[in-house]
Amino acid sequence: MTSKTKALPDRLVVILGDHLDPAHPLVAALNPSRDAVFMAEVREEATHVWSHKARIALFLSAMRHFRDDLEARGIKVRYFTLDSHSHASLSATLAAELAAHRPQRVAMLQAGDARVQAAIEATVQRAELPLEVVEDPHFLFELKTFQDWLGQRKQPRLEHFYRAMRKQTGILMQDGEPLDGQWNFDVANRASFGRQGPAQLPPPPAFSPDRVTRDVIRLVNREFPEHPGALDTFDWPVTPADAQMALQDFVDHRLASFGTYQDAMWTGEPFLYHSLLSPSLNLKLLNPRDVLDAAEISLQDNVAPLACVEGFVRQILGWREYARGIYQARMPEYAELNALDAEQDLPAFFWTADTDMVCLREVLAQTLRYGYAHHIQRLMITGLFCLLLGVRPQRVHAWYLAAYVDAVEWAELPNTLGMSQYADGGYLASKPYVASGKYINRMSNYCKGCRYNPAHASGDDACPYTTLYWDFLVRHRERF
Ligand code: FAD
Ligand code: SF4
Repeated sequence: MTSKTKALPDRLVVILGDHLDPAHPLVAALNPSRDAVFMAEVREEATHVWSHKARIALFLSAMRHFRDDLEARGIKVRYFTLDSHSHASLSATLAAELAAHRPQRVAMLQAGDARVQAAIEATVQRAELPLEVVEDPHFLFELKTFQDWLGQRKQPRLEHFYRAMRKQTGILMQDGEPLDGQWNFDVANRASFGRQGPAQLPPPPAFSPDRVTRDVIRLVNREFPEHPGALDTFDWPVTPADAQMALQDFVDHRLASFGTYQDAMWTGEPFLYHSLLSPSLNLKLLNPRDVLDAAEISLQDNVAPLACVEGFVRQILGWREYARGIYQARMPEYAELNALDAEQDLPAFFWTADTDMVCLREVLAQTLRYGYAHHIQRLMITGLFCLLLGVRPQRVHAWYLAAYVDAVEWAELPNTLGMSQYADGGYLASKPYVASGKYINRMSNYCKGCRYNPAHASGDDACPYTTLYWDFLVRHRERF
């Protein structure tokens, strides 16, 4: 454990691994001579689902960089490294800290994850200390405002929410109307690459591991050797400065084609024109307002066309805020939903990529390698296969929470249970995202190298997606 002081703090500010906001409001309000920050690396956060090595390394490295920055600013940090203590969980580590150094009060930003929030509240209550919980200002919509918006509706819809957000923020608006008179350029944003494939792709920037990250990589390889994934390609942003560079690179080189090809897939090309900003956004290294500003500036400067900028803005201002609002409003019962009574196990090859279905092999292999797949790969390759097969949504949820570097429950759970598995019966998204292999054939080149035929539902070369698609429709004929 590293600490610069033994003095008892007045106020202990708990900072979680996904609250690494350089403008953290409780840090800004700290009295450095009386208050202290508490941060802890704990085994439970890497093992309650079987986390990808890159996800663990990203969190730990970003946390250590954040700690170093606080200490450089003269702030006392009670920081527990993973190998410096034997507490299994965050609550056990915090309980020990509260018992040893009894601060007068504890403060935190509202945790994104309902499980973590409940655990901290219970720990502080057991220690008989007051806990101040401040809403996380990282999001554009306050939870109360979202609740009010939701309260009037039986059936929330992203499109309604998104338009309300556009009006409230004025983003891509002129005189109260959407720019160019159109709210949504979805139809222009579904192109595939055609036979020739993507043009020369600008590679995303690589952030070579510095000393802190290299230490963390060694630690993760030592402590979690059996966990999925690899660390030899780890180059994610781990500081706010890295994240700003990643944003600028995306806006300069990939945003102009993002919208057009946001649903397309291609063999051997995991990143295409995607931003790769979700890990930085979810750890709060990057503020969504800065991301939206950068996108609007690129439109004003004619670097990117409106259809592409709108497609991107819809993801950040629409889907990201919407998913978080639904999560906070519907937890904890949301996590148990299973509207289609799906009970199958997750196929074992989701952890190995050992399958002869080329689409799944490609997406699983890149997921295990980088901890990354883009949205349509998650929704229409891995998610679709689980939905058609009838895998229990909670097993699918555990896999998504484990497999991706950007995985945080408030973003992952609504996408998995709601959008991808229809486990909420159509609450988050009106229809199940089902398709046969023909959709995958249209949006990618995966089928070209596959032993199955996406047009065949039966016979030796029947595509499993196409067979399962018809089976799904028959199974749920009455419901749909
Ligand atoms: P881009 O394609 O460049 O999109 C830009 C940004 O928009 C993303 O960085 C992200 O912040 C936001 N965004 C886009 N789509 C969504 C969405 N549906 N919900 C919320 N935000 C969105 N996203 C996560 O951040 N964490 C998760 O754990 C997660 N789990 C998912 C699980 C499933 C089953 C599905 C279908 C989607 C999931 N998503 C999750 C949403 C989305 O797939 C990722 O945000 C996106 O692929 C991240 O890559 P990117 O940064 O290159 O995104
Ligand atoms: Fe996937 Fe079917 Fe195409 Fe093979 S034929 S790549 S299994 S969609």
